[in-house]
Amino acid sequence: MPEKETNIEGQPIPFKAETQQLLDILIHSLYTEQEIFLRELISNASDALSRLDFIMLTNRDVLDPDVPPEIRIRTDKDQNQLIIEDTGDGMTRDELRDNLGTIARSGAKAFVEAAKESEGNLADIIGQFGVGFYSAFMVADEIKVVSRSFQPGAEAAAWIARGEDTFRLEKADRDRRGTEVRITLKEDAKEYLDESRLRQVVKRHSDFIQYPIYVGDAEEPVNRQTALWRQNPREVEKEAYQEFYKQLTLDFTDPLAHTHMVVDAPAQMYAMLFVPKDPQNLVFSPRKEPGLKLFARKVLIQEFSTELLPQYLNFIDGVVDSEDLPLNVSRESVQSNRVMALLARLVTGKALDMLEELGADSPEDYAAFWETYGQYLKEGVAVEQDHPEKIFPLLRFHTSKDLAGWTSLDEYIERCGVDQKKIYYFLGEDPNAVKYSPHMDSFRKADIEVLVLTDPVDPFMLMQLNAYQDHPLVNIAAADLPDSEQEEEKKEQSDKPEVDPQEIADMVLRFKNVLGDRVVSVRTTHRLSDSPARLVDPEGAPEQSVQRVYRMMDKNFEIPKKVLELNPNHKIIHGLTKLPEGDPRFNLVAEQIYENTLLIEGLHPDPVSMVGRIQDLIAKTLGED
Ligand code: ADP
Repeated sequence: MPEKETNIEGQPIPFKAETQQLLDILIHSLYTEQEIFLRELISNASDALSRLDFIMLTNRDVLDPDVPPEIRIRTDKDQNQLIIEDTGDGMTRDELRDNLGTIARSGAKAFVEAAKESEGNLADIIGQFGVGFYSAFMVADEIKVVSRSFQPGAEAAAWIARGEDTFRLEKADRDRRGTEVRITLKEDAKEYLDESRLRQVVKRHSDFIQYPIYVGDAEEPVNRQTALWRQNPREVEKEAYQEFYKQLTLDFTDPLAHTHMVVDAPAQMYAMLFVPKDPQNLVFSPRKEPGLKLFARKVLIQEFSTELLPQYLNFIDGVVDSEDLPLNVSRESVQSNRVMALLARLVTGKALDMLEELGADSPEDYAAFWETYGQYLKEGVAVEQDHPEKIFPLLRFHTSKDLAGWTSLDEYIERCGVDQKKIYYFLGEDPNAVKYSPHMDSFRKADIEVLVLTDPVDPFMLMQLNAYQDHPLVNIAAADLPDSEQEEEKKEQSDKPEVDPQEIADMVLRFKNVLGDRVVSVRTTHRLSDSPARLVDPEGAPEQSVQRVYRMMDKNFEIPKKVLELNPNHKIIHGLTKLPEGDPRFNLVAEQIYENTLLIEGLHPDPVSMVGRIQDLIAKTLGED
């Protein structure tokens, strides 16, 4: 907007297009949540006070430095007006034009988008949006904002609008610093002339605003105002935490978990942390950005501080307040501050404790938590440089014995008993594959539980998760067998009927001829029972999990060639030894067995290509070849 235009006294100035859309929606729809306009105006007033606090940390040269921070709500019944006044940083004429002429907050833009899609069905969702200043048009015939900036030389100015098209700027008289929003109420919004109704709305939506909110001439503020996080955790009810969380985030569901800490050493700090039930609820929240609200001695320093929690805990929201952060700290220098590192350690430790407690106290809630946020924690294990083992107790897994449920490493170790010294895992792409995996044969037989790892992030996690409580993690596809089971197997092997070693050797050779250099080698194994064959890595190949990592990071990475192991006791392999030299069925079966192993490992490049051969085999079984 050209500067000149706005300086003409009282000249109508059009709203920006998207602002007009928002106003249009707000003015012409019916809302059950109409009362939230007051929450929005109080929130703006609180932000203005908070900005002024911040300015005054380093600059006392402001208008009315001794006027206390407060929000006052008054009514003028004769004029039919509701007045919300604050002693915050105020606005100059230009700021009035810029700030109130366009939608400032992204939540309001999101609201317009959602409103277009929901086809007028907004009554239920409006309360969940931070629609800001314009929500006042739900109850207003006219809004007049009179403001005077904290800057000593600034003059007061007024911003006036009646509808969705234009606003005006005028000179105004106001000797005090701050802003007054004067709403001439619509016919159907007269209830907001009633002070008890106003107190009720303030209590409901703005109880945790940290500045005093007065209604009428009362000397007692309506809101509890004392920062909840500065109270003794033992004296705060669960409901108060839930209410605080909802007012903070505008989430409409209770948080999944919360925690509250007050510490004096090594740094003084108050903190309150929350885990939202569903991040989807926050899409339109003013707090959808990651980060905690950071206060230094009650003054808001950063709205979204991401320095206090590691990235994998980004989904946690809350408030941190410390007496030890230097008051002259600027928003930029927060990062490099020594105290911040201390606070971050404390907050992170507390966040992990909160999750561990949730796991111990309410496994059902934890399962819900895990399904929503498990990915983040696995990523945390993968990337965390500083003690990734802190996260290990929080991990959960599907297992071969409980494919639907969630098992922790502690539960796994407890269930497997003292004799089992290792934690076995299956690594694949499809959890169901564990049912058919030949690597499972011996584990099924020995009744050993196996973790099922099928998330793309799992191989990355395994790079740092090598052992838990002195139990190394071992891939069941590893070629060499765990010691204890090897013993057992030798015994079993001797029980089995003798197979002619020469016949077997011949058959292995024929397999090699058929497969050529598609495999490193072919050999027999006694690890298998139900399956005819399996693929294993040759000695010296990178571990399977590492191969997967390579493959995900580099599309051209070639999986190293494998060793095909045959089960000489399986009826198919046995049958093959009986086929006379030159029987065409040998090649078909050998090819199919090899490709079956590829399929099971998730390595088959083109499964559909098998159909021709399978049909050939079927024809041969029917004697139709
Ligand atoms: P948001 O508060 O999310 O930025 P709003 O549309 O509610 O969006 O407000 C737009 C802008 O107007 C604010 O960012 C702020 O700069 C200014 N503003 C609104 N109310 C006040 C107030 N009471 N005091 C000072 N500035 C205000």
